[in-house]
Amino acid sequence: MTKRILIAGAAQEVSTFNPVFSTYEDFNIAVGEEVIENKIGKNSEIAGMVDVLKTDSDIEIVSSYSAGATSAGPLDNASWERIASEFLEALKPFAGEISGALFAMHGSMSAANELDPEGYLLAESRKILGEEIPIVYTQDIHGVTTAKMLKHADGVSVYHTYPHVDFADTGSRAAKQLLRQLNDGTKPVVVRVPIPALVRGEQLITESGLFGNQVSYLKELHNDPRILNAGFQIGNPFTDVPELCSQVLVVTDNDEEFAKEVALKAASEFWDNRLEMQADLDPLEESVAKAAKLKGPVIFTDAADAPSSGASGDSNAIVVEMIRQDYPHTVLVPIVDASAVVRAVEKGIGGRITAKLGGNLDRRFTPVEVKATVISASDGTFPLEKWPSIEHAGPTVVLEAGKMTFVVFSRPINLVDRAPFYANGLDPQKFHSIIVKSPFCEPEFFDDWCEINLNVDAPGSTSADLPSLGHTICARPMFPLDEVVEFVPEPEVYSRR
Ligand SMILES: [Zn+2]
Repeated sequence: MTKRILIAGAAQEVSTFNPVFSTYEDFNIAVGEEVIENKIGKNSEIAGMVDVLKTDSDIEIVSSYSAGATSAGPLDNASWERIASEFLEALKPFAGEISGALFAMHGSMSAANELDPEGYLLAESRKILGEEIPIVYTQDIHGVTTAKMLKHADGVSVYHTYPHVDFADTGSRAAKQLLRQLNDGTKPVVVRVPIPALVRGEQLITESGLFGNQVSYLKELHNDPRILNAGFQIGNPFTDVPELCSQVLVVTDNDEEFAKEVALKAASEFWDNRLEMQADLDPLEESVAKAAKLKGPVIFTDAADAPSSGASGDSNAIVVEMIRQDYPHTVLVPIVDASAVVRAVEKGIGGRITAKLGGNLDRRFTPVEVKATVISASDGTFPLEKWPSIEHAGPTVVLEAGKMTFVVFSRPINLVDRAPFYANGLDPQKFHSIIVKSPFCEPEFFDDWCEINLNVDAPGSTSADLPSLGHTICARPMFPLDEVVEFVPEPEVYSRR
């Protein structure tokens, strides 16, 4: 008998320390078959789900709705309510018509009046679809799975890589769990162990860091037939919500004891490594002074203003310090400033403008005045190098001010590779210094050809100096926000079958 499996999605990662709210207009919305069509053939969770489901000739795949946006500030309430209502309305025609559902989520959404949007969507979806329908969701390693999500789902599959490359694989693990449940009658038991620690830094790079060894342990367990899914979530430390934490999530086939054993072992190793899983930051003033003396190329990593983590992208902190120190080299700077773009477009290519760059969105930065020539203009639409994403920066201009070249975007976009530069006719390798607004990038993008990558301790809404951010909502005490933090493992068990 043909079984219909429904696919839907809702994903955004927010920094609640970014003062600018996200809106409905920031989201790519897909309805009906578009949900799958837009993702198929790409390294995406939904493509991974479809690939697995297609191996079963008795499955018919249907899709309802997806909403996805670049990381940014939390959603304003009207926008969140619209997305939630569209997601749930699109689900209603499938009530009583499907055998299972897969949701591609991020896990670090947040809205003005709803601090657990994915939990809400899962709880309401459960009401619509009924208690018997298995629902498995996927999430980012930076997601925050909550008790509410697990109460209403049968399982979760999370990324095993950072920087993330296993989008499709994560979707396929979710689909495999769902198929086993439908075809073999497995009874998923989820155990989660919350860990009161927030982590950052290069030890989290799964290819080379300590965290990679820990993830490998859980990843290899997938060869054991008792394991349906297993992974870590480290939360997005910038999404200050009640259940923000790191956690281990293990889904077994009806084996609570084994799930607990595995989850506790992983959690205890993670806790032991927490001190090493913190960012090693280079002071701003010293970084600029040091780079001034280097041959280059020098990468200035400004993770505190990483739009991919939820920041506004309009920090000028490093530029201001360079101007103060009369920095002697060429610098390539990505920055968000819609009003500067408007003025540059009015003047046209070759025109001269005086622009106050940066600090128009996030008021912790003070706009800095530069006299610049307009070099080029583009529509700001381009694909990223590896992520399966088309970026929409809105009108974009290149401004040249002395030795500084600014790529100025109208809207925050993912600045995780070289694509934002290439799309505007700029080769980063032709500059002495390049500001990169992403905590980590694939090595070939920058690290393989630079002399040094300075991880700068600049201010910003996604600063790796976590105590500087001022968390007020997550459970305390929390390492490294508080001095004395104890870890008393308390496994939570969720089972719907
Ligand atoms: Zn992530």
